[in-house]
Amino acid sequence: MRKPWGSLDKDRVRQLHSQGLTDNQIAAEMGESPRGIRSARIRMKLIRNNLKFTCVCGKTFDSCNIRAKYCPDCKDSFRAIYWQRRYTWDSLRELAKVNPQRAREVIEEMKREDPETFQGMGDLSKIFINESLSA
Ligand SMILES: [Zn+2]
Repeated sequence: MRKPWGSLDKDRVRQLHSQGLTDNQIAAEMGESPRGIRSARIRMKLIRNNLKFTCVCGKTFDSCNIRAKYCPDCKDSFRAIYWQRRYTWDSLRELAKVNPQRAREVIEEMKREDPETFQGMGDLSKIFINESLSA
């Protein structure tokens, strides 16, 4: 199935590769199989071009993950937010132990203030509410 090495237009591969195209993009452009292009590229000692993405923050970044969405900087800040939320959550747990009613009120306030964030914490909220009810 793979076309013989000799028949492949290496100059074209090199040219498209230098423009930053990925193996799949080169393959599509040239009507070759992605596997054929990949092995040709390796044989030509060219490094793999990753996909280029634009993050919601506007920065461009590359990734070999086709579903990449966020640049490394945003990923770091998301991680920070996650830990911050965990921290909030831990405080709420503590509050629930001494004053479940107040903890529920705080959760209601959080829901009103930031429904979207709270949605992401849905499962946690269930655990928390069950815990505070059984406590
Ligand atoms: Zn970003």
